[in-house]
Amino acid sequence: MNFELSKQQKMIKSAIAEFIKKECTPEYTLALDKEKRFPEELWQKLAENGFLGIAIPEEYGGTGGDILDYVLVIEEICKGSIAVGFGFFLSICFGGKSIGFYGTEKQKQEFLPKLADGSLKFALALTEPGGGTDILGSMQTIAEVTDDHYIINGQKTFISGADVADYFITVARTSDNPDKKSDGITIMLVDAKTPGIKIQAIPKLAIPAVTACEVFFNDVKTPKSNLLGKEGKGWHHLVSTLDNERIGVAAMTIGLAQGIFDYVVQYAKDRQAFDKPIGQFQAIQHYLAKCAIKIEAAKGLLQKAAWLQSKGKRCDVEATMAKYYASSVSFEVASKAVSIMGGYGVMEEYEVGRQLHAAKLFTLAPISNEMCLNYIGMVGLGLPRSY
Ligand SMILES: Cc1cc2nc3c(=O)[nH]c(=O)nc-3n(C[C@H](O)[C@H](O)[C@H](O)COP(=O)(O)OP(=O)(O)OC[C@H]3O[C@@H](n4cnc5c(N)ncnc54)[C@H](O)[C@@H]3O)c2cc1C
Repeated sequence: MNFELSKQQKMIKSAIAEFIKKECTPEYTLALDKEKRFPEELWQKLAENGFLGIAIPEEYGGTGGDILDYVLVIEEICKGSIAVGFGFFLSICFGGKSIGFYGTEKQKQEFLPKLADGSLKFALALTEPGGGTDILGSMQTIAEVTDDHYIINGQKTFISGADVADYFITVARTSDNPDKKSDGITIMLVDAKTPGIKIQAIPKLAIPAVTACEVFFNDVKTPKSNLLGKEGKGWHHLVSTLDNERIGVAAMTIGLAQGIFDYVVQYAKDRQAFDKPIGQFQAIQHYLAKCAIKIEAAKGLLQKAAWLQSKGKRCDVEATMAKYYASSVSFEVASKAVSIMGGYGVMEEYEVGRQLHAAKLFTLAPISNEMCLNYIGMVGLGLPRSY
């Protein structure tokens, strides 16, 4: 067993950590949240430094890193800014991995280099107003198949970064009468500027810099060459990217938890009460010690899941465990951090209170933690399906 990072991984980790420390100052992250604006200027810098291409093969303009490198980068970004990390995740995981896993050679050549050089951003348009957990039961968006086009009609909701995305990974029904609910679903790469698309921001508390949007499709004409994967097999394709998504969310939330934790440990050393640093009180020490243990345990789950995937081994249950635990821990760490900071913990100026909303978000999306437990019960423990 070897817990040490390779020389290459240490270089990646220190390069991204240095970059984020320099760029994501508390003033900058506060401005992003207050102005509710995507970190566009950092996007180009991330691209120039090769970070956007970390998980993209070299032949498509990336640096050819594996899932372990991707996890390192995402964790370090989220320590400094969950908004930047979330934006990174949306394009690199939802966009890059979807095209990488089931795109055609032509699509990979067309889209992946532009993802790596920062000229294209992606959003996933899956969830609908009728419900995200039971998306197969609630999906109303229809793509009518013509000779050379799809005509899409419907509404998507909570679509992160839709206002800045160039393309939507759009999921719609191409058959309204399939044998199984998971059949007849198709994924299309839809140009966000296509006539008939209307985007409307939904104000939100968690990560305001990355806007959640409603996206309306009204007779949106998309060429068949933008079909991603096989027509009618979209759900099966999406399932193949879930491990990656869950590992990515675990890495994001561990980075978020670690960033909050590092900050609040220093706060506990500096803040005085009763002529002592508050970190001298056992209650505060116990909060912090428990957080330290849980972050370390979450890292262990994440590393195992990512390692399994890097070796091409099955990792669905481990990835789901890592997502569940890391997001729960990050919410707990954020909540304890607010307690340790007292009144300052809920002031807008301090990042910790804002991070509490972000941490809560990842306990319910992209898969809710209740559904993670359902999955672990059913697939990991062989219990009957509960839903
Ligand atoms: C800020 C934000 C950003 C998002 N970004 C995107 C995005 O970019 N693209 C996208 O497509 N979607 C996105 N989503 C949607 C997200 O994936 C859904 O919110 C999530 O799947 C939950 O769906 P829901 O909100 O409709 O809750 P519901 O499905 O209504 O669930 C409500 C509650 O019921 C519980 N529940 C439901 N069924 C069961 C069951 N069988 N057993 C136990 N509990 C159950 C859930 O766990 C949850 O606690 C985003 C959501 C948010 C809030």
